[in-house]
Amino acid sequence: MTQTSRPFLPFVKPEIDEETIQGVVDVLRSGWITTGPQNQQFEAELSAYFGGRPVRAFNSGTCTMEIALRIAGVGAGDEVITTPMTWVSTANVILEVGATPVFVDIDPVTRNMDLNLLEKAITPRTKAVMPVYLAGLPVDMDRLYEIAREHKLRVIEDAAQAFGSTWKGKRIGSFGDLVSISFHANKNVTSIEGGALIMNNEDEAELARKYRLQGITRTGFDGMDCDVLGGKYNLTDVAARVGLGQLRQVERFTQKRRELARAYFDAFEGGAAVRLGAGLPPRNFTDSNWHMFQIALPLDKLQLTRAQFMEQLKERGVGAGVHYPALHLFSLYRARGFAEGMFPHAERYGASTVTLPLFTLMSEDDVAHVVKSVDEICEQFGLNR
Ligand SMILES: *Cc1c(COP(=O)(O)O)cnc(C)c1O
Repeated sequence: MTQTSRPFLPFVKPEIDEETIQGVVDVLRSGWITTGPQNQQFEAELSAYFGGRPVRAFNSGTCTMEIALRIAGVGAGDEVITTPMTWVSTANVILEVGATPVFVDIDPVTRNMDLNLLEKAITPRTKAVMPVYLAGLPVDMDRLYEIAREHKLRVIEDAAQAFGSTWKGKRIGSFGDLVSISFHANKNVTSIEGGALIMNNEDEAELARKYRLQGITRTGFDGMDCDVLGGKYNLTDVAARVGLGQLRQVERFTQKRRELARAYFDAFEGGAAVRLGAGLPPRNFTDSNWHMFQIALPLDKLQLTRAQFMEQLKERGVGAGVHYPALHLFSLYRARGFAEGMFPHAERYGASTVTLPLFTLMSEDDVAHVVKSVDEICEQFGLNR
C-alpha cells in the first residue's frame, strides 16, 4: 500500500518549455546577460497584459513590495495593516521601511484578511493597507478600494500569488493602486526569482526605476548622479527571458490549474477526509488562479500531528507544504508584542493547513492518487466517533 511505482509527486514544479530554454541559451550567447533588452521586453509585455499600466521588474517579489512602500511614502511613524496569514516578507518589508505592521485576522472561509476587521483597525496613523491574495484568491476588491478611498489609504497589493487571477472579469493588476507580483520559482509564472510592480503613472515608474538601481539618474561620458537612496534590485536578462516564456503561457497555466482544482473537489467528495471534517478551499473557478490547493486537516479527529500526516503522505509518494504558520507567532513578531490568541482564525488555520500538489505538469490521475492517499491516512488514523 505504501510502496508505489509512481515517481514522487512534489507539491510544486515549474513548467519550462523548450522555446524558453532555447531563448535563455540565446541570451547567454548574446553578450548581454544582465538587465537589458530582455528586461525591457518583459516590462513591455507585462504592461500590455495589465492594460497598459506602467510596470517595472525587480529581482524579487519582496523588494518589489518594499519599493512600493517607498513610492507610497510609507516610513517611520506610519502603520500598515496586513494579514498574519502570509509569507514572512509581507510584514518584513513594512519593518524594513521603518513603519509598523498591524495585523488583522483572516476570514476563516476565504483565508484572506477580514475586511470588517481591516476597517476597525484603521487609526490616524494608518498610511497603507497590504492585502494578500492567499493561493491566488482575491479579497472583495470593491470593498477593499471603497475602504481605502474613504480613509485615504494607499493600497499595496501583495498579489505575489495572484498572477492570472481576476475580479469580476478584470485581471488583478489591471486596476487598483500599487500591485506587487512575485516570479519566484514556485509561483504560477516564474522568472526563477523576480517580481514586478504595476503602478499608476510614469512618475511612479521612474521612481521605481531609480530605487531599483542605486537611485541613479544619469550615467554617461559627462558624469553620473543619484538623487534618492536606491538599492540593487534589478532583474537579469536571463531571468527576464524565462519570465517572457512563462508570461506567454499564463492563460493555459491558469486553465490547467482550474481543471486540476475541480478534479480535487470531485475526488474529495464523500471521502474519509471530508467526513472527518477536513476544510477544503472556497470553490472559486472564476477569480482564483489556483496558485495552491490547501486543505485544513481535522487534527482533533486524527491520531496524528500535521508533521506525521505529511510524513505519511511522503511515504505514499506525495509531497506537501505548509503555507503558512501564522506570522505573528514568529520570534521577530513575538518580540514586538504579538502572542497566541490575538488572531485565532489565522492561528487555527496556520496550525492545520497542508498544501497539496498542484502544478501544470500534473495529471488528473495524480490528483486522484493524492486524494486517495489523504483519505487512506484519514481512514487509518481517524478517531472512531
Ligand atoms: C512569494 C511571496 C512573496 C515574496 O516573493 P519573493 O519573490 O519570494 O520575494 C510575498 N508574499 C507572498 C504572499 C508570496 O507568496
